[in-house]
Amino acid sequence: TPGIRPLVAGNWKMNGTGAALAELRSIGQGFMSGLDTETEALVCVPATLLSRAAEAVAGTPVKIGGEDCHAKESGAHTGDISAEMLKDAGASHVIVGHSERRTDHGEDDATVLAKAEAAWRAGLVAIICIGETRQEREQGATLDVLSKQVAGSVPASASAATAVLAYEPVWAIGTGLTPTAADVAQAHAHIRAKLAEKLGAEEAGKIRILYGGSVKPSNAVELLGVANVDGALVGGASLKAADFLGIAEAY
Ligand code: PEP
Repeated sequence: TPGIRPLVAGNWKMNGTGAALAELRSIGQGFMSGLDTETEALVCVPATLLSRAAEAVAGTPVKIGGEDCHAKESGAHTGDISAEMLKDAGASHVIVGHSERRTDHGEDDATVLAKAEAAWRAGLVAIICIGETRQEREQGATLDVLSKQVAGSVPASASAATAVLAYEPVWAIGTGLTPTAADVAQAHAHIRAKLAEKLGAEEAGKIRILYGGSVKPSNAVELLGVANVDGALVGGASLKAADFLGIAEAY
């Protein structure tokens, strides 16, 4: 989108111990050694790795993020991690509402919205994930689902400085399947229009809308070249530096 610097964001999910930091160092080095890209780069890692990950990319343009946060700042929530804690550990961003969180932990739009607000409160950029299931697509409900998710998951206070949207068709995550370029274009234009209704056209025109779902170096140029696609959220292919850098080079 004209005027928007793209963002390529990795999501390591529940993968990686200290040994995986070598890949992160390679990603950082890639961005330091003249990688031909204009994109901003971010890798979201398990909370256990956050502070070490931040050290691993220190001095490079690569940023580090969390994969989820609790909506509250602190309190009696054993095992949970707040946005403030992520920030303290070196994160600049946090993913909220990933489909795996929505499925594994029953997170609904209201929960996701509260988490996005928590991220803002802590000074983190929220990457708010939305996307239809296979069944919803087959029923022709994709655009209605996206409308509902934008209405329910995106805070009214969201801005380009505090929020990023990620369109991730659930059936394309980790499956090797991807929508057609025309389907991606339609979904992203629809999300932008719904954001404009909510936040006004000017702000909506500045917010990044990432595509996520089986992005790899071989399909990145096509998928990321679609109108209104302002970057990628990359799962599996972000675990290998060569793949992540290859995707970033699509820009
Ligand atoms: C994701 O986890 O957000 C994702 C898009 O995964 P993958 O790239 O592996 O499909």
